[in-house]
Amino acid sequence: MNSKPQILLIYTGGTIGMKKDFETGALKAFDFAKLLHNVPELKLLDCEIATFSFENPIDSSNMNPEHWAEIACTIENNYDNFDGFVVLHGSDTMSYSASALSFMLENLSKPIIFTGSQLPIGDLRTDAKENLITAIQIASLHENGKPLIKEVCLYFEYKLYRGNRTTKVNAEHFRAFISPNYPFLVESGVHLKMNSELFLQTNEAELKVHTYLDNNVAIIKMFPGISEAVLSAILNIESLKGIILETYGAGNAPTEDWFLELLQNAVNRGLYIVNVTQCAIGSVSMGHYETSTTMKNLGIISGKDITTEAAVTKLMYLLGQKIAPSNFKNVFETSLRGEISL
Ligand code: ASP
Repeated sequence: MNSKPQILLIYTGGTIGMKKDFETGALKAFDFAKLLHNVPELKLLDCEIATFSFENPIDSSNMNPEHWAEIACTIENNYDNFDGFVVLHGSDTMSYSASALSFMLENLSKPIIFTGSQLPIGDLRTDAKENLITAIQIASLHENGKPLIKEVCLYFEYKLYRGNRTTKVNAEHFRAFISPNYPFLVESGVHLKMNSELFLQTNEAELKVHTYLDNNVAIIKMFPGISEAVLSAILNIESLKGIILETYGAGNAPTEDWFLELLQNAVNRGLYIVNVTQCAIGSVSMGHYETSTTMKNLGIISGKDITTEAAVTKLMYLLGQKIAPSNFKNVFETSLRGEISL
């Protein structure tokens, strides 16, 4: 590592990149090239910062796997020259992107920290400056010349989380994210409080970047009254290869014949079905109740305590990896990047 950590800031868009014109009150895109000029506090950080911006920054509602590939390639192309990466991203789909990137970047040995804000960086009461400054500080942390954090994380409102464990829960408060089934990794207060025992331990193998994701997938949220016609129409979409089925509680679903037959037929046709709970906290435990035992017997995959965001991006990633069908369930139920508790 050079004497000062080298950090690459990747700007994809989102509220954080806006600035208020105080004369007109209008929000306009921030000139990212002038970041250091506009946020002079960054000069006080003990690191060197370079910036890269998407040619057309986007609201994260427009995020898609091609953008994820662009972020992954930017990291790959600059991997040897930087010690850490901070990705500025709209908060709306940040958990999906952080999850996707965690799967796309295999054998990470450097930190990738996603952050954004609820208010634009130019707003008087903005949360953007704290999020940006601390995310860069965390990306710069090193020990014995090596980065301390070697995984994809999300920093928001004083907490660093494992990215693929997060979910956006609040459109109003600065504390917009939670990590329901895994504790935060770092808390920012007077000091940075590290829960280093929770950091992902990675091997020393070379970085592998996977840019192909297969998006022939769907998320179906169960609700009392879901009709056979609707479910059947979705499960019979010709190009569909996998679904995330958001079930009740510990992974429970109806035991009615029509429902189980639809699932059985879909599994027999080679569709992968992942059982994820629609509860924010807790885990799928198939076989715990009668209402999930049949699903277990059908060969449905258990998402355990994975978030829906991580489940759907993991499904896209694994479908893109051409895993043998006989092995797919096994691989999905394994924790690849710390996204599932074992
Ligand atoms: N709609 C914005 C986005 O996700 C919200 C934000 O940046 O927080 O891009």
